[in-house]
Amino acid sequence: MDLEAISAKIRAFRDEREWAQFHNPKDMAIAISIEASELLEHFLWKSPEELDARISEKREEIEEEIADIGIYLTELADNLGIDLLAAMEKKIEKNALKYPAQRVKGSSKKYNEYSDESEGGEP
Ligand SMILES: [Mg+2]
Repeated sequence: MDLEAISAKIRAFRDEREWAQFHNPKDMAIAISIEASELLEHFLWKSPEELDARISEKREEIEEEIADIGIYLTELADNLGIDLLAAMEKKIEKNALKYPAQRVKGSSKKYNEYSDESEGGEP
């Protein structure tokens, strides 16, 4: 199933329930944040060593939270007339300029934490 087909399915699900009236951009953004928090809850207080076991034990529930985020995100983009795949592709290209591989490889620093003498674009 591609993004257009899943968008149509989400729209049909929403419209059958007459929920479009509640799905304004603010509440959709809040819903995305709440679902992201539900995902985070699975990892709360877990040490790095405990994470793999947690993911195995709760895989289905974690998958559902990821799906919830994806559903709300897809609907929000659809409602706003944003082509989600094109927007993601554009942002990846922007991130590639912000984080040139030769400059940031193996580092988790933010783009503005690299020193000026490093290769690549300016921070
Ligand atoms: Mg959820």
